[in-house]
Amino acid sequence: MRIPARPHGRGVTADLVVCGLGPAGRALAHRGLAHGLAVTVIDPAPQRRWTATYAAWADELPDWLPPEAIAATVPRPMAWGTRAHQLDRRYVVLNTARLQTSLSLSGAQIIADHAVEVSPRRVTVASGGSLAARVIDARGLTRSPTRAEQTAYGVIVNAERGAGLDPLFMDWRADNGAQPDETPSFLYAVPLDDERMLLEETCLAGRPAVTGSRLRMRLHHRLRARGVRLTGAEPVEQVRFPLQGGHPGPHRFGAAGGFLHPATGYSVAAALAAADAVVAGQDVWTPAARIVHYLRSAGLRALLALPPADLPLFFDMFFELPAAAQHAYLSGRTDLTGTVDAMRTLFSVLPWRLRRRVGPATLGIPVPSRGRRGSAMMEQ
Ligand SMILES: Cc1cc2nc3c(=O)[nH]c(=O)nc-3n(C[C@H](O)[C@H](O)[C@H](O)COP(=O)(O)OP(=O)(O)OC[C@H]3O[C@@H](n4cnc5c(N)ncnc54)[C@H](O)[C@@H]3O)c2cc1C
Repeated sequence: MRIPARPHGRGVTADLVVCGLGPAGRALAHRGLAHGLAVTVIDPAPQRRWTATYAAWADELPDWLPPEAIAATVPRPMAWGTRAHQLDRRYVVLNTARLQTSLSLSGAQIIADHAVEVSPRRVTVASGGSLAARVIDARGLTRSPTRAEQTAYGVIVNAERGAGLDPLFMDWRADNGAQPDETPSFLYAVPLDDERMLLEETCLAGRPAVTGSRLRMRLHHRLRARGVRLTGAEPVEQVRFPLQGGHPGPHRFGAAGGFLHPATGYSVAAALAAADAVVAGQDVWTPAARIVHYLRSAGLRALLALPPADLPLFFDMFFELPAAAQHAYLSGRTDLTGTVDAMRTLFSVLPWRLRRRVGPATLGIPVPSRGRRGSAMMEQ
């Protein structure tokens, strides 16, 4: 890809201003620099070290990502609904520190400030200055009680403590002590390297989502039931982020720009993969991609409308879809045909009592959140 470049000297307007240095903004700035653009980045804490554990399907990652950014690979992860499913797709856990350093900002102008007014051609920062350039907003998503969230509570254990646990993409088995009418959560278990595993109890989507303290209790309950003994000294990872609020469009990127899959919470690989195209000014939000975004949001509504006790069965049906359909639904950001086929096929194999909830929720018809303790809202 050829991108016209200009020298980035004092007094020269940047080619590209990126607001926000999370994985998406940093990847965009890095790729802009790699293509010879004059890049300015704005973030209140540009030197902040990332601490979250990021993972992705291996086939989603762009070729330019150096192999050292990958910490561990799971060739065929397991998923459990009410029964086991082996997924024939490579899953990778990223090395967060190396990912961040590999997205080098060398050569960028770095402004430690809040972007307060962001428009496609100009940005104003809190300290008062403003810059005129092509501006991309990658400031992430803000939390709000009206937005569904994903939450998780995890511990990092030595691999031998997690011995006996297969890497688990998601495990919905009912041994975490949750009551059948509570918002459910699943176990996520991945290697961080040869010596450590992350064991995380995750609320995929909730409005409100399950709290960290409740997830901690469930994780401890579940691990006790599986014979995994914790010392209490394990490092902890807490997760909380909104699943809704992203707006697809040419001037936003990452979670802010609709790259976060509302029904799974994944966004990092999609943002890395799209960075070059965005740098080049290509239209990454074709009509097909926008409809897929809408359908994924419908998928989130369906998840929220399902009775808690039926989530394991729902995921049995999902993981029994043909691999191509699973791939399309999870990763096909621009694959409208694949996404529609996957949703249609899944709907056709669901039992009638689930179809009666998933159908209206998908169409945006309010469905009462029956059976979810503490949640009487309508999912819409
Ligand atoms: C603990 C955790 C684990 C996760 N694991 C995964 C995973 O395994 N795989 C996956 O795909 N996703 C994962 N996610 C979800 C999601 O992909 C991440 O939230 C990801 O960080 C989103 O990237 P982003 O760059 O779009 O936004 P963010 O990471 O939210 O970055 C936004 C940036 O904008 C900056 N900013 C905010 N306001 C301003 C302002 N006014 N001016 C300038 N800058 C501003 C912030 O300082 C921040 O650096 C996880 C999330 C969490 C919290």
